[in-house]
Amino acid sequence: MAVFFVLIAVLLLLLLVMIFRAALGKKAPAPGVFDARSLDKYAGAEEKLAKLVRIPTVSRFDPIEEDGAMFKLLEAEVSALFPMVSERLLRLDAGDRAMLFEWPGKNAKLKPVILMAHYDVVPPGDDSLWQRHPFSGDIADGYIHGRGTQDIKIMFSGALEAANRLLAEGFVPERTIYLAFGGDEEVGGNRGAASIAGLLKERGVTASWLLDEGGFVSNGMLSFADRPLALVGVAEKGYVDVAISAKGKGGHASMPPKHTAAGQVAKAVALSETKRFPSKITATLAHFLESLSPYVPFAYRLLFRNLLITGPLVRAAFSASPSTNALVRTTTAATMLSASDKENVLPDKARAVLNVRILPGSNVAATMARIDSLASKAGARADFAHHGFAVEPLPESPVDHEGYRNIEARIKAVFPEAGTVPFMFTAGTDTKHYVDITEGMYRFTPMVQGPEDLGGVHGANEKISVENYLRTVMFYEELIKNA
Ligand SMILES: [Zn+2]
Repeated sequence: MAVFFVLIAVLLLLLLVMIFRAALGKKAPAPGVFDARSLDKYAGAEEKLAKLVRIPTVSRFDPIEEDGAMFKLLEAEVSALFPMVSERLLRLDAGDRAMLFEWPGKNAKLKPVILMAHYDVVPPGDDSLWQRHPFSGDIADGYIHGRGTQDIKIMFSGALEAANRLLAEGFVPERTIYLAFGGDEEVGGNRGAASIAGLLKERGVTASWLLDEGGFVSNGMLSFADRPLALVGVAEKGYVDVAISAKGKGGHASMPPKHTAAGQVAKAVALSETKRFPSKITATLAHFLESLSPYVPFAYRLLFRNLLITGPLVRAAFSASPSTNALVRTTTAATMLSASDKENVLPDKARAVLNVRILPGSNVAATMARIDSLASKAGARADFAHHGFAVEPLPESPVDHEGYRNIEARIKAVFPEAGTVPFMFTAGTDTKHYVDITEGMYRFTPMVQGPEDLGGVHGANEKISVENYLRTVMFYEELIKNA
């Protein structure tokens, strides 16, 4: 009996500690209200973004399919629209899918900052799904319409606009700033970002921090948060396409073996879905939850601030929905399947592709090994789908860093309605090419994304509100002034 009471007492004590931890942490200030009048001075800037959107700089894996003239046209348009940038800044030659500008700072002792974006876009897809021409660049109903507005000419144009305005005012930044734009991010960034990073490395540049595309000021993604959240990516998942294959004996399908190659591959794919990678609370996720806790109801705070005890519960809850599941585990998505091309012919080989996003803390080799071991249970095997092409997960960047602090302060000024939280970016960016030459790598797209904007990135009817774009310009102007 005594043991029972001791147990109850311990549990109560534990609960009390948990409640204390939940209650005592940082409290959120009341959300601010943005004064749209502060955007008046940027009025008209949207016309320039629209002009850039009208140039279809679609990148393709096969360069022969690309319209190179469009990329040249875009460069000419940049010179015409942002003359101060093209006349006053030093343009460094990093190849034909890169635009790199150096803006020397006053203090050569300070490490530079790299402001990144890409100016290529993905193809518009099915034209009939678009309410306007995909490259109309129409400005209507308070929006700028067209492919690239959200991904990511808004950052490309926004950074150029801010730099152009500051240069016109005679502003000189404290530290050197690089405007680093790639023209092939959507197809891997080898001709753009990789070439730029290579050139900077050659010139001995080590940057303090960089800003690249990433999380938005997300309005409604986490329904339990009391305000929009500015999601600043401080880590990035790795990437590998894995081919699952099995060999069989071709022949007539009337007397089949117990398992055909198609059956073996199908079983391996099924195993990849039922035996998911183990879930884990990474350092980034722990940071994310801690930073999130001021903005969520008490019950969530109780969970998020006591991960040592509540970890398993949080992992289970996160595993339940695709967007949060991606934060707690390496994910595998079966995307391609092929086997025999005739109904009554046994396949002599079958193949599937898993698109795999690797959680930081793991690596490509361990991920391949686990998938191969699962596949072998089904009589199949796992290999790299593209000759060893893979990206290791990127290291977590510090939150206690001048770059993060600058970004956070600018969010507070330009998106005062939002709370800022560091998080793990689950998609890939050009940032991967800069790992060797940068301390702090932050992925944040300065724009509000509400439910009405969802689906625009890589989808139809991509658009950005004029107010949103002007806020992007303001964000960059403040960011550069305080860099
Ligand atoms: Zn992008």
